[in-house]
Amino acid sequence: MNIRTTLLLAAICVGLAACKTKSPITSSTAQTTSSAESMNDADIEKILSGMSLEEKVGQMTQLNIDVISVGELYNLEKPHRLDKAKLEKAIVEKHVGSILNVGGHAYSLAHWQDFVGQIQDVATKKTRSKVPVIYGIDAIHGANYLTEGTLFPQPLAQAATFNPALVEMGAKVTAYETRATGVPWNFSPVLDMGRQPLWSRFFETYGEDVHLATEMGRAVIKGYQGEDASDPYRVASTMKHFYGYSAPLSGKDRTPVYIHERQLREYYLPTFEAAIEEGALSVMINSGELNGIAVHADKAILTDLLRTELGFDGVAVTDWEDIMKLEVHHRVAKDRKEAVKMAVLAGIDMSMTPNDYTFTDLLIELVKEGEVPISRINQSVRRVLLMKKRLGLFENPMTPRNTDYPDVGSDVHADLSYVTACESITLLKNENNILPLKAGSELIVTGPAADSRIMLNGAWSRTWQGVDPQYDDLDDLTITQALKKNFAKKVFYSEGCSLDEMKDVSQLKIRANRADAIVVCLGELPSSETPGNIVDLTISKAQIELVKAMHATGKPVIAVLVENRPQIISEIEGLCDAVLMAYQPGQEGGRAVADIISGVVNPSGKLPFTYPRYVNDLVTYDRKRAEDLHKDFSWNAFNPQWAFGAGLSYSEVKYSDLKLSADTLKKGGSLDVKFVIQNMSQRE
Ligand code: BGC
Repeated sequence: MNIRTTLLLAAICVGLAACKTKSPITSSTAQTTSSAESMNDADIEKILSGMSLEEKVGQMTQLNIDVISVGELYNLEKPHRLDKAKLEKAIVEKHVGSILNVGGHAYSLAHWQDFVGQIQDVATKKTRSKVPVIYGIDAIHGANYLTEGTLFPQPLAQAATFNPALVEMGAKVTAYETRATGVPWNFSPVLDMGRQPLWSRFFETYGEDVHLATEMGRAVIKGYQGEDASDPYRVASTMKHFYGYSAPLSGKDRTPVYIHERQLREYYLPTFEAAIEEGALSVMINSGELNGIAVHADKAILTDLLRTELGFDGVAVTDWEDIMKLEVHHRVAKDRKEAVKMAVLAGIDMSMTPNDYTFTDLLIELVKEGEVPISRINQSVRRVLLMKKRLGLFENPMTPRNTDYPDVGSDVHADLSYVTACESITLLKNENNILPLKAGSELIVTGPAADSRIMLNGAWSRTWQGVDPQYDDLDDLTITQALKKNFAKKVFYSEGCSLDEMKDVSQLKIRANRADAIVVCLGELPSSETPGNIVDLTISKAQIELVKAMHATGKPVIAVLVENRPQIISEIEGLCDAVLMAYQPGQEGGRAVADIISGVVNPSGKLPFTYPRYVNDLVTYDRKRAEDLHKDFSWNAFNPQWAFGAGLSYSEVKYSDLKLSADTLKKGGSLDVKFVIQNMSQRE
């Protein structure tokens, strides 16, 4: 952290402390009585024993909001509103215990509170059991489905800060803004490892390193849940997607993963183990197959490993329509009924997104036919009720109204997002110290990411894929707008190319004559899951052409990368004098990039993954020595574009006098490392 961000952070804390309500960042205790204190386990048993089979199975059902809204599935009428008859059918007749999702795009705080309040009114006033509904959402980098919500850098960028305390503060803000909507359950964090850069959800991970991802996961869970998740400013976290989801052989989402158990345990399990230690209240299951077995049907993973070995006692929710997929996608169940039986017997507690009541009806039948024991149902329902209790939903089914959440989308929250972006952005190359650019420099700014907000925010931003600019907040500056501010408007912008098509660059070339430098902002369209599948990690041809054309002007080229994952840029890297990895830096990303380019902020981010140089050379830093077996032949040696942990600053820093407290480090032992660090420059 440098002096500017440190001071700003101090101001953020002071600002929050002065807030009318308890500060979402500085407080850790609830303002209202914790219901966790006033309800005990015996109360849960009493509720459970009074429930009918139908009521119990309803608690295991998580319905898509579309099913109870006016309009067709995935095509709701606008503006969004609940369909009262459908709502009553779901909650009163089918006893549904959970709802999720957003019906297409973000809503205002008032709208969220209104319709979640309507759902809770029906659940607590019109049903016999009066058990409140638990609403869940993916607020993966801020309250991204709330129009006023603060968008933080994506998780991969957050990992680049190497600063868990800062990441925890961001998660606390996300919890506050999410709970404000009446939603107490967040399907986050992704604890899958980012070790397969082709994977479309790479940006949702905390990178390739087990220790870093584990510490980030811990921080986020602390930020979401605090000491007591019944606090009206906290939410339940979901460690996902258990487990081994993120390394598909083909790189494509939800396609088969083959990882030896030894590797699974060494690289893919520790983040989840730590999350359980931190008290994560729920888990979401890997949608794909692992070593030939569909995980949703795998009792060895869902029960033997998760429950018996790891001792997890929270709720296991399926991923999207994954019970159905056992039949139609994995083809391991002969029909839907067998799929339901398989998943429930394997150990799932809640089925996400039946878009109808098939799961509910079939599970009731299975229990009546003796195919699924009632003890298995009781176990799951107990866990669901317990999570509702831990969130304080029985006392406060609807969190207080918006007057209790005055800080949603506040400037203070935006500043925290800005500080996080500043600490994440990673300077990968800076030849002849071209950066920072001198005040008064004249700039050319170009490239598809230069004037785009959607590229800064990435997927899961106001919409699932985050690509609809109609939800842009026009107060957030693009990189071009922020550079214009910092360089007193001596900035000429032209797009240069779209993501896949070169444009006329004649004006850019003419203007380049009198410019001091050219900032080229490159990247890819935000995406996640299947829409983000790619077949080539190389950056698009049009962008390669643009960099070549800009380099040909003879002016220094500064590349800013705004990417979902590391795209191969080896063909143009040598043409760039500086390279700044911005990741997807969130709503304040434009400001942060411009402040680093102009030197207001000294960059300090570090790459949380190995940036590959070649499309077929995807090796992580913590490789086996045997990967270097042929290092005598240069084409065989481990030779990434940038190493894990790479990241320059504008200061020259010298390390000396390294001393270790011992020559060997025993398993479980510790080692003190001492050294002298000197800042040789004039910069903070
Ligand atoms: C994703 C999950 C997400 C869920 C609900 C699924 O498609 O894989 O990560 O939580 O949708 O939106």
